[in-house]
Amino acid sequence: MKLSRYMVPTLKEVPSDAVVTSHRLMIRAGLIRKESAGMYAYLPLGFRVLRKIMDIVREEMDRAGALEFLMPEMTSADLWKESGRWDTMGPEMFRIKDRNGQEYALAPTHEEAMTNVVRQIVASYRDLPVTVYQMNTKFRDEIRPRFGVIRSKEFIMKDAYSFDMNEKGLEESYQAMRKAYRRIFERCGLETIPVEADTGSMGGSNSEEFMVASEVGEEYLLLCGCGYRANQEKAEYRRTGRQGNEPQADIKKVPTPDVKTIDDLVAFFKCGADKFLKSIIYLADGKPVMAVVTGDREINELKLKRALGATDLELAPDTVVMDVTKAPVGFAGPVSDIKIPVVYDLSVADVVNGITGANEKDMHFTGVNSGRDFTVKNEADITSAVEGDMCPKCGAAMSVKKGIEVGHIFKLGYKYTKSMNVTVLDEKGKTVTPIMGCYGIGVNRTMAAIVEQHYDERGIMWPRSVAPFDVHMVGLGKSPEEIARVEEIYDLLVEGGIDVLYDDRQASPGFKFADADLIGIPVRVTVGKTYFSGGEIEVKSRGGSEILKSAKENLVKLVRETMK
Ligand SMILES: [Zn+2]
Repeated sequence: MKLSRYMVPTLKEVPSDAVVTSHRLMIRAGLIRKESAGMYAYLPLGFRVLRKIMDIVREEMDRAGALEFLMPEMTSADLWKESGRWDTMGPEMFRIKDRNGQEYALAPTHEEAMTNVVRQIVASYRDLPVTVYQMNTKFRDEIRPRFGVIRSKEFIMKDAYSFDMNEKGLEESYQAMRKAYRRIFERCGLETIPVEADTGSMGGSNSEEFMVASEVGEEYLLLCGCGYRANQEKAEYRRTGRQGNEPQADIKKVPTPDVKTIDDLVAFFKCGADKFLKSIIYLADGKPVMAVVTGDREINELKLKRALGATDLELAPDTVVMDVTKAPVGFAGPVSDIKIPVVYDLSVADVVNGITGANEKDMHFTGVNSGRDFTVKNEADITSAVEGDMCPKCGAAMSVKKGIEVGHIFKLGYKYTKSMNVTVLDEKGKTVTPIMGCYGIGVNRTMAAIVEQHYDERGIMWPRSVAPFDVHMVGLGKSPEEIARVEEIYDLLVEGGIDVLYDDRQASPGFKFADADLIGIPVRVTVGKTYFSGGEIEVKSRGGSEILKSAKENLVKLVRETMK
């Protein structure tokens, strides 16, 4: 491919809205252009990379025995209503109507649509197991699209769904996908950290996310040297146990005018934040509940939701807090007559002589102890693990890393096959409901994550497997004779089966080299002065500093070696 006829609009300037490396470099190297917030066009060079990633994903899915479909991107509201998700998907799902008023979703995911197709086809145990997949556009109405293609409104996802006769079968399908995912990311040159993720109602290690460690990641990962790895949404931590040996004090009501936040309380009572029983009122599926945690911890709303078995969880408005506690916000507590369900974090019962709101304006209780002043009936892990917390498996201190999620595998269970009434006959002619798994990879996000892991101050450094071309050839001839000799080398490489981007533009060597480094094709071949005078062609890998010299006859061989 000759660059003069290609379209690689490289930029020196960094676009002002690009705050992360991958976004900056993908714009500057001429891979993508913004259409509007959260939407990007892939230019020819960028689309080549995307296609290579898609090819790897496809090869590995096929190798694992999954069957490729192409599904409509617009999905009927009826299917979403059947599963019950039309009402629960929330504002992130784009909804549209046709001219007859029929409702549709621009699919953010395809569980319903895929289940609907599969149920029309499978009839007996002989038809299962089956894993189906597609690579297609997905839509999500992001509140705040950002980081280029990492969080966008429209993206390509590979989504797969397995259907099995029973849990044992599901485990096998799940493990096959797990293996395929490891291969996919490895082949893309991406180092991923598989972490345990939130499993909703399924429990156990039935969900794994493939994360790429990155400063721009929006997920927090808890990691331990023993191998324990979990998303903060799910990560557990070992508790420290009862606080010290001091004897129980008497409970006392203390005036605390305008002392509301944990910081205010720490300053006022001159003690550690872990002495406070922070009590927050939520609405769980519309009904008020109180969550009590120690003051040094944040409530993990996902864990709380799970502990309550709730679908929706939101902070209660001030009016509800007033109604429930008979006090303004900031004075809630579990002591005295709380008529709503209360969930206590696992550490609350260990607090000795705690301090908590008295459910009365400007009043707190001190010397509060569980068992005597309140009863812990409903105890659950509802706080987030943080840096330094003890590993639930081995007790060592865990560290925290930020990560970008590029893949997720998940045992779904019977949620869709039950709600959408999928049945098959088993060997005995009995009707059974198949069990499902689902498996996703964000393709565009994978591309951005590869850039996040492979760049230097000059530009991108593509792993060979996903590079847009094998070789970036810089031609530096000026006279028609020199240009003809450069073209010969280009033909030689192409005939040697090498995918070449040939910079034949009339520009300075410095300009061309800078573009080559920015675009980041793994091997650079320079045909210039040393060739015209001494017959030597220069070969350099994007990551290395050494310049190898080659005669024309050995060039293809040397290029192939350098590509490795
Ligand atoms: Zn550990």
